[in-house]
Amino acid sequence: MQSSLEPVFEQVLRRNPGETEFHQAVREVFDSLGPVLTKNPQYADAAVLQRICEPERQIIFRVPWVDDSGHVQINRGFRVEFNSALGPYKGGLRFHPSVYLGIIKFLGFEQIFKNSLTGMPIGGGKGGSDFDPRGKSDREIMVFCQSFMTELYRHIGEYTDVPAGDIGVGGREIGYLFGQYKRITNRYESGVLTGKGISWGGSLVRTEATGFGTVFFAQHMLETVNGGFEGKRVVVSGSGNVAIYAMQKAQQLGGHVVACSDSSGYVVDEAGIDVELVRQVKEVERARISEYAERRPSATFVPGGRVWEVGAQVALPCATQNELDEGDARSLIASGLVAVAEGANMPTTPKAIQLLQEAGILFGPGKAANAGGVATSALEMQQNASRDAWSFEHTEERLARIMSDIHDRCATTAETYGQPGNYVAGANIAGFTKVADAMLALGV
Ligand code: GLU
Repeated sequence: MQSSLEPVFEQVLRRNPGETEFHQAVREVFDSLGPVLTKNPQYADAAVLQRICEPERQIIFRVPWVDDSGHVQINRGFRVEFNSALGPYKGGLRFHPSVYLGIIKFLGFEQIFKNSLTGMPIGGGKGGSDFDPRGKSDREIMVFCQSFMTELYRHIGEYTDVPAGDIGVGGREIGYLFGQYKRITNRYESGVLTGKGISWGGSLVRTEATGFGTVFFAQHMLETVNGGFEGKRVVVSGSGNVAIYAMQKAQQLGGHVVACSDSSGYVVDEAGIDVELVRQVKEVERARISEYAERRPSATFVPGGRVWEVGAQVALPCATQNELDEGDARSLIASGLVAVAEGANMPTTPKAIQLLQEAGILFGPGKAANAGGVATSALEMQQNASRDAWSFEHTEERLARIMSDIHDRCATTAETYGQPGNYVAGANIAGFTKVADAMLALGV
């Protein structure tokens, strides 16, 4: 990290004690920004770094709800409205027991640069709760979402803050949240949430967008060296919304997808993953991934294992933060790895990224590679604002173009700053400068 950035980073540590994921996300961006500050002293003069690390607003609230046995449960809700220089705060909601302020802040911070990279007019935010959806009945999910929105509604709006899904929040939850927003406000304000159902204001391709976009990004990286997915061995972590559609698109492009996982372990299927079966098991039945191996003779379930030990030419971490570490990077490199594209947010540890880059592996960071999800959310907002609904083909074409532009923006910026092929530097610098320039223009 350049020495002028160190005091700013020290301040981030002091102001946000114990929030290790947030510290990690800030450090990773700061590590790229040295040359930008040298070239643009106006950023330091206006304290842009200090300002960008301090969320504009942080909301923490109580979420009381009654479970199926009649007991009152209390969870904690969060919404961090991080930066609105480019547009209304935009970012998902995560429901997972690991959620605390530090996780939401890391995600919100990443979201600022990701959203900037999409080229769409959206600021950065994130929210969620430590509520654990696993094993909850449909009624419990509904009343939790209603209680969550009973507080959140006063902070959001189509011109203010537009939440969407993330881990633990999919179409069903967005439905219950939107229903409650509409009930309380008496407004059919479609643009207040994205990831809606197709019949009530959602966009085609939004469900597929993060996974598809990650594969489009990886395809562009691969094309800069030796072709694309065709014939390559692909391993994906996770088996949720991002993983499922990453696998589907990788297969469509000729990739051979042999493994995916959930928090209980992974499945290997050398015959090629049957994506429809994964979808049935995980999304429809909400069961464990071991169930896939029960129904598929060519597959084996490895309980508690790390999916990366399977070996791959293309690795797509699509589960959660810090799921691919140094040891995983080493074994992947030894197995003939060519590229990694992050479908999840910050899934690769800093040491693992360093190892991969030193080994000459193409590495697409999440804020670029998984930006297709939020970009398609912005397309959903566009359709809502114009009371229109686009075809699947048209929307996918827009997504493909956006991912290609993000790839080129990262590649060109990396080259301009003397680090050709370094997508981490390219994404951080390109994402940052657009927001920083807007912040300068808007004044203090
Ligand atoms: N949660 C997704 C992300 O990490 C999507 C957010 C959105 O669509 O607003 O980018």
